[in-house]
Amino acid sequence: MSDPLETYRRKRDFHRTPEPAGAVAEAGGARRFVVQRHRASRLHYDLRFEIDGVLVSWAVPKGPTLDPKARRLAMHVEDHPMEYLEFEGVIPSGEYGGGDVVVWDIGTWEPVRTSDPRAAVDSGELHAEVNGRKLRGRLVLVRRDAEDGGEPWMLLHKRDEHAVEGWDPEDHPRSVLTGRTNDEVLADPHHLWRSGAPAAEASVSLLPEPLPDSAIDELESLGQQGTWEVFGRRLKVTNLDKVLFPGEPPVTKRELLAYAARIAPVALPYLEGRALNMHRYPEGAGAKGFWHKERPGHAPEWLPGWDNPDADPGETRTYVVPDEPAALVWAANFGALEWHPWTSRTEAPDEPTYALVDLDPGERTSWDDLLVLARLHRTALEHLGMTARPKVTGRRGIQIWVPVVGGYSFDDTRAWVEKLSRTVGKVVPELVSWKWEVKARKGLARLDYTQNAINKTLVAPYSPRPAAGAPVSVPLTWDELDDPDLRPDRWTIRTVLDRLAERGDPFRVLLGAAQELPEIS
Ligand code: MN
Repeated sequence: MSDPLETYRRKRDFHRTPEPAGAVAEAGGARRFVVQRHRASRLHYDLRFEIDGVLVSWAVPKGPTLDPKARRLAMHVEDHPMEYLEFEGVIPSGEYGGGDVVVWDIGTWEPVRTSDPRAAVDSGELHAEVNGRKLRGRLVLVRRDAEDGGEPWMLLHKRDEHAVEGWDPEDHPRSVLTGRTNDEVLADPHHLWRSGAPAAEASVSLLPEPLPDSAIDELESLGQQGTWEVFGRRLKVTNLDKVLFPGEPPVTKRELLAYAARIAPVALPYLEGRALNMHRYPEGAGAKGFWHKERPGHAPEWLPGWDNPDADPGETRTYVVPDEPAALVWAANFGALEWHPWTSRTEAPDEPTYALVDLDPGERTSWDDLLVLARLHRTALEHLGMTARPKVTGRRGIQIWVPVVGGYSFDDTRAWVEKLSRTVGKVVPELVSWKWEVKARKGLARLDYTQNAINKTLVAPYSPRPAAGAPVSVPLTWDELDDPDLRPDRWTIRTVLDRLAERGDPFRVLLGAAQELPEIS
């Protein structure tokens, strides 16, 4: 029998293309299928069925559909290795298939009317019952006469219980694995494939290097205090068994430091290059906290600092700048339970890099009310074509972060956010108060644009909050605003790392998305 992957190998230069050189995978379990939305020289959808340990593949320019009236051209292309099944990332331009790929749908399938689907493909007709997240029901592929090269087939969806007339795949463009669009994957690819390496080792993660478990083991082995070597720095850590957050069981300082070290590689892009305002609770979240902005004299020499040239006499002059992950661990050991980075960078302190919407619930604002306000902002920002993301605060609120290009002043971003939020507020005046005084708001929500000011800060993505159980401020995808299980304090330092492993970081796309602020009319 000839090697089913021979054509695939021939078409690729394995010294350059970051895709795996495939090995025929073991069969076993339910057959899987995948559809990848692939923007190469032209947009198409790659429909791939697992057959005998490879992915038998068609490129479908208009994409597969549930519409039983549609007849779609599907070009039969060479088999792909099983390692492609969950490939989502970027193939360098200039390479075969260069472009960006999202896993548009994935699931299992069964061949119909045959126990030998390879023979069915060879004979020119394949009937497949698919069970994916988007595609369900009976797909039929039939070979057509070739006109000028290639191997055209026709793809249709049977008129069965899953058929939906008029259904268009382009209305559902996001990845079923990460919720991201092709644009978002291109802006921030999480994975590349290493050329030449065995397929199983080919995936190169572009996500931050996680903390090795041995570092946590070392922290666990310390007594009440000691020297912890973490991220290449030697840190004196103290009072490790002190309870900092009430809860069942309570959260100790040791646990907070472990969290700070684990989250630091993820949170750092939102903190580095910025002055850090620390909300300190040395006696724990149950006692009163206070703001600490000055870099203390006893801070280790390596801890980066920044002198604010505009500091008035009596104001903080030297700030901590968490430019490396160990700095965040240092801050946690210093009793900073909350991390508030400046909205501007130290190199241009008067220029915000985000426009921030702070949805601040009043006493009478229900969680559902707040979600209404957040969704209305989502609609408005989508209408404006803006890349933005919401996050829960870990307490009661929701914030929306909108990355902006350099050159704006805080006056600019504040005025823009005010206009945006006033437009939204007009839709639901019964939920919103524009009164400055809390009492005068009568328990209604405040759409707080005034946080767009120098040295006013919102809590950092992934910062803990000083409350029982150590809740965390967590970035969301827009779709999660429709999740009935969403709560503002849903995640804690004990659960957010699992979420990250599963869902990734929805804010990463903001890092490459600085944009101009459009007119709001
Ligand atoms: Mn393709």
